[in-house]
Amino acid sequence: MRQVDGTVFNARHRRLKRMPVLWLAGFFTVLVCFSITSITLWQLRQSRNHELDIADTTAANLSRSMAQQAEDTFDQADIPVAGIVERLNFDGFGAATSSRMHDYLRATAAGVEQIQGLFIYDKDGAWAATSLNRMPANANNADREYFQFHKTYDSTLPHIGQPIQSRTTGDWIIPVSRRVNDSNGHFAGVVLATIELAYFDRFFDRFDIGKRGVITLAMADGTVLARRPTLQNVRGASIADGELFRTYLKEHYEGTATVRSVLDHELRLYGYKRLDRYPLVVLAGLSEQEVLDEWRQYAWRSLAIIICVVIANLLFGVLLFQQIRFGLNAESQLRIASHSLEKLALQDGLTGLANRRHFQEILGLEFVAGQANLHPLSLIMIDIDYFKSYNDNYGHVAGDKCIVAVAECIRSNLNRTGDLAVRYGGEEMAVFLPYSDGQGAFALAEKIRLAVLARALEHKGNPNGVVSISLGVYGCAAHQCPTMEAFVERADTALYAAKHQGRNRTVMG
Ligand code: GH3
Ligand code: MG
Ligand code: MG
Repeated sequence: MRQVDGTVFNARHRRLKRMPVLWLAGFFTVLVCFSITSITLWQLRQSRNHELDIADTTAANLSRSMAQQAEDTFDQADIPVAGIVERLNFDGFGAATSSRMHDYLRATAAGVEQIQGLFIYDKDGAWAATSLNRMPANANNADREYFQFHKTYDSTLPHIGQPIQSRTTGDWIIPVSRRVNDSNGHFAGVVLATIELAYFDRFFDRFDIGKRGVITLAMADGTVLARRPTLQNVRGASIADGELFRTYLKEHYEGTATVRSVLDHELRLYGYKRLDRYPLVVLAGLSEQEVLDEWRQYAWRSLAIIICVVIANLLFGVLLFQQIRFGLNAESQLRIASHSLEKLALQDGLTGLANRRHFQEILGLEFVAGQANLHPLSLIMIDIDYFKSYNDNYGHVAGDKCIVAVAECIRSNLNRTGDLAVRYGGEEMAVFLPYSDGQGAFALAEKIRLAVLARALEHKGNPNGVVSISLGVYGCAAHQCPTMEAFVERADTALYAAKHQGRNRTVMG
């Protein structure tokens, strides 16, 4: 049977169409969140690395500059020591005790800031001369490490000893000494310059290394000579166990490393450098925590903003998602509504059969002006017998039910696609049968008539006692149909004839 609604409502197709939009909205929202977050994290990481790089360079430069300074300091202390040794070699050790030598020592020590004192010891360790104003009686330094060193080794190079506390002043000093030989090359004594370690402290204080930064001057074996900030008992302490000494300084002359301090356990970015001409090491460390302080604040601020943006974006995404869903639902509701309207416009409200308008449209398609039909066409016109009387006897509502019952009998006998059952008007109905010839249509008409009789709906006004119908059939072969109006009229005339011949029958037009 021909479908009254021309369009097939395809729910699956609709679902398929709506899914990508929703998926795209969700995907886009997540993508935006993911992109913003990853770009920010990447930028934070870059800026962190940048801060650390700058700190690294600063620490390396600091350590280089400190190393240069330390080297100059020791050079400046060693130059007079070498000069005195040269003099004693030339003039003989006896010159050490001369008042001229005493004046020379005093003037030199006063002229070089870092030199705390200059001393000459004879081969037994007894004081021969000093830059100090007072010479302690019977003082002997033979037990000092530097004295023993020079006595033992005949090297004429300068020797830097372990930091010691001066017996004379109580200050912490570093001894810079050289051996004096007599004319035979035998040990004749030691010339010593003491460098005040406080000098390094004062020098270190001039640099901005933050509150938790550190500058350390240490012996090559890890013994701390000076450190800023100073810690209790730090002078003379060993940092040889630290990673810098254990690993880095063993392999490299200078460089940078991020390690934890063995003294205060702070993680620092260190620049380290071994001095070229002295067994000394300089370490300059900037606290990682301090270096990244500003960055950390910036990072927290950025993260807070990003979290807000992501939340706002997610909320926006949810809203968008809902809006799209709402829009799609509204669209499908509208489609359903328009579909129903379309259906209503083509369907008869009482029987569900096609209405006359639809029938005219379909018929019009078959009877295109000036074109012969390419296949047979048939029409059955149907009218309920004595229906006025049925209404009178049973009322209008029952009359309507009777019309519906007849419509069902018609519908249930149609099984060919393209056949169209129509409520033509009032209690008149029709069946349009394209592809059926007159005989086929007549056979179907009879089937419908018998089906109505078989329903045996009581009808007092009908001589048969039950509801019956009269049918007029007209069929035409391919290429032989008259005009559309004549085609309908021939069927109508046949119906009229059926009525005339006594009703409850089918007449072929
Ligand atoms: P005939 O056998 O010659 O067809 O006699 P009839 O009484 O059926 O005569 P006719 O076909 O002229 O009568 C049509 C009547 O059908 C008129 C009207 O009262 C009734 N009718 C038309 N449309 C409807 C409807 O929709 N519902 C109901 N209940 N009655 C209708
Ligand atoms: Mg009628
Ligand atoms: Mg009638």
